[in-house]
Amino acid sequence: MDLLNTLVDKGLRREPPTREEALAVLDTSDDDLLDVVAAAGKVRRHWFGRRVKLNYLVNLKSGLCPEDCSYCSQRLGSKADILKYTWLKPDEASKAAAAGVAGGAKRVCLVASGRGPTDRDVDRVSDTIKTIKDQNEGVEVCACLGLLSDGQAERLRAAGADAYNHNLNTSEATYGDITSTHTYADRVDTVHKAHDAGLSACSGLIAGMGESDEDLVDVVFSLRALDPDSVPVNFLIPFEGTPLAKEWNLTPQRCLRILAMVRFVCPDVEVRLAGGREVHLRTMQPLALHLANSIFLGDYLTSEGQAGRADLEMIADAGFEVEGADRVTLPEHRAASGGCGSHEDAGCGSHEDGAGCGSHEGVGCGSHRDDAGCGSHEGAGLCDSAAVPPVSEPRTDLVAVRRRGAGTDLAPNA
Ligand code: SF4
Repeated sequence: MDLLNTLVDKGLRREPPTREEALAVLDTSDDDLLDVVAAAGKVRRHWFGRRVKLNYLVNLKSGLCPEDCSYCSQRLGSKADILKYTWLKPDEASKAAAAGVAGGAKRVCLVASGRGPTDRDVDRVSDTIKTIKDQNEGVEVCACLGLLSDGQAERLRAAGADAYNHNLNTSEATYGDITSTHTYADRVDTVHKAHDAGLSACSGLIAGMGESDEDLVDVVFSLRALDPDSVPVNFLIPFEGTPLAKEWNLTPQRCLRILAMVRFVCPDVEVRLAGGREVHLRTMQPLALHLANSIFLGDYLTSEGQAGRADLEMIADAGFEVEGADRVTLPEHRAASGGCGSHEDAGCGSHEDGAGCGSHEGVGCGSHRDDAGCGSHEGAGLCDSAAVPPVSEPRTDLVAVRRRGAGTDLAPNA
């Protein structure tokens, strides 16, 4: 396909596609899907080889947010039955972080619900960053605390943060449809503040909120213009008790096309497969590793992911390798300019759960998995758990609220 050859050539040159070419990727047919994945996979391998960076979310403060982001289970008025708790103490957060690091994560993403931190909150998180860095040698720390006021990014940087995450989530034109308590411009401003403070900027999107192809292309081009080092791609987890609970409009094929489009627009950036992968990609997750070079290990902010061990097995089975702490994530030209995902002091991105804050929510699920299934079919007939709904039906059964790890007495999933 001429389109794909053109996009591969451009991706290898770090040249963006035209807007029409990006739209054409989203408009390809299922018959062309493997060709699309193969083409974007060439760009991914050129810049990132077969490495997969693992990131680990620690939800420092969960629920009870005064903001009204409609995709978020922690929003004002949310009826979702999520864990709700106030700030974890530094040692509690560090213990959770250590579980992720032991599972292979090289970056820890510290997320807190809320519009943005107070100066006292920045002090708290600074203590937590220092504790985590003291107790987990070489780990990258990304903070995701919402909208930043003047001087806060600099203070986080001074405390040892490597990166700051704040997602744009959707296009400027539709931003007001999903949130009324802050603006798209507020979000852009915070990404600039992170950049200006020398933090590695992480900013991404949430797909599946009812947006058009044009909206998706708009937000991805807007992200490219912000020049983040990492771009988390979340797929909406429609939580019961939130306004978007009925927005089940993604298929595995659609998710793969979106990821391919993001890779073509942001060829040399860390593209992170974030919340919702287990719910929407399901058994097609391994194909997404040909497009994204980074994932979250284990659970999300308010929802459970597939078992950390299953993540590691998936990476190995698909022929990829977990990126070690001794490797620089970003290509040399980006890492040299101070980008993240790289040097010893780079950072992350994600409060969301997939989504970044604005993102903190949680997109994200997956959990059932380890405890689903009867574990006994071999040989015999089908058990009840084999009565899986047809793929055309919403897989509400795959959304599981997080009940373990940070904020609980149960061990984290890593
Ligand atoms: S995304 Fe962040 S700011 Fe928005 S409601 Fe959720 S926790 Fe609050």
